[in-house]
Amino acid sequence: MKGFLWLALGAALLMCGGCGRETGALQESVPRQYVDTAMGTVIQQTVYCAEAEAAQEFFGRAMELLDSLETDLLSWRLESSEIYRVNASAGNGEGTVLSEELADILRQCLKLYRDSEGAFDVTIGPAVRLWNIDQWAAGQQEGEFLLPDQEELEQALKRCGSDRIVLKEEQARIFLPEGMQLDLGAAGKGLSLERLGSLLKGSPKITGGVISVGGSVVTYGVKPDGSSWRVGITDPADTSSNVGILSLEGQWCISTSGDYERYVEVDGVRYHHILDPSTGYPADSGVRGVTVLSKEGLISDMLSTACFILGPKKGMELARMYGAEALFILKDGEIVMSEGMKGYFSGR
Ligand code: AMP
Ligand code: MG
Repeated sequence: MKGFLWLALGAALLMCGGCGRETGALQESVPRQYVDTAMGTVIQQTVYCAEAEAAQEFFGRAMELLDSLETDLLSWRLESSEIYRVNASAGNGEGTVLSEELADILRQCLKLYRDSEGAFDVTIGPAVRLWNIDQWAAGQQEGEFLLPDQEELEQALKRCGSDRIVLKEEQARIFLPEGMQLDLGAAGKGLSLERLGSLLKGSPKITGGVISVGGSVVTYGVKPDGSSWRVGITDPADTSSNVGILSLEGQWCISTSGDYERYVEVDGVRYHHILDPSTGYPADSGVRGVTVLSKEGLISDMLSTACFILGPKKGMELARMYGAEALFILKDGEIVMSEGMKGYFSGR
């Protein structure tokens, strides 16, 4: 059952009818909020819009978009999704035809696999399933969490490696070897940011907005008072507070990968959800969180995961290669960021 929360924050603005500018005031864009769940996470939408009805219509369309991304494209669990069909075709010898949309996403994923020297790997599925951290972190598993058996982990890793995928350019057909499984967990939220950005752009009655998909954020347009969008960066040492704020104008996508997002702790050791494909274990590059800023959501999301695994030195080079800005929070709390990021970030 989905939660439903609908707030018109601009009520005070709308209520100034007594000041003699009622018509003008009613036509002003005011912030309107809607909170719901989709893609297994919380979606917080704030849009600036003069008409309550238009805002409500937008919220509905945004939720439909997210639900359809999950059920028709991204889910590895739902039989209705294209990823499910691709995974089910592994080893069939004939491959399977991809939609242009998924072919385009996978091409970008394979490029980043090469550029990150294998750190970002959408075929990490078998190892991710073995650890099952997402389910443990969500409280969907019973009993005691056990580390994967080393032999099983090695077997799972043998079934990973994006260089083993064959993607035929001309027919957009994919050949997935036996036992391989795609996992778009590191890119799906970013893709949704991109699609939401386009939806905002195509909604003339919405003058500005900021939408969070489980902490990944897209900003768009302007606020009536001309102030910037403010996006907080979570402090890994105290996730109820921020290490600072990004002040942004216009359309941006902001993605964060952190060891505090989904994890299990055993005997004081934290096992989180971002795996280093070279070991099969949760990545340990001295980083606790990485935030990436880009105009493209798929890029910001894929890069935040890759940068988390690579650490600040190599990660920063990778972000630069993609024209993105990156901010790393290291284990000792030190913050390292790209030159461009400094122009947007203000510390606590
Ligand atoms: P994110 O929170 O965007 O960093 O994505 C983490 C999710 O991506 C995990 O829950 C896995 O589903 C998946 N994943 C884990 N390790 C990797 C990796 N090395 N490359 C690509 N995807 C990964
Ligand atoms: Mg990611």
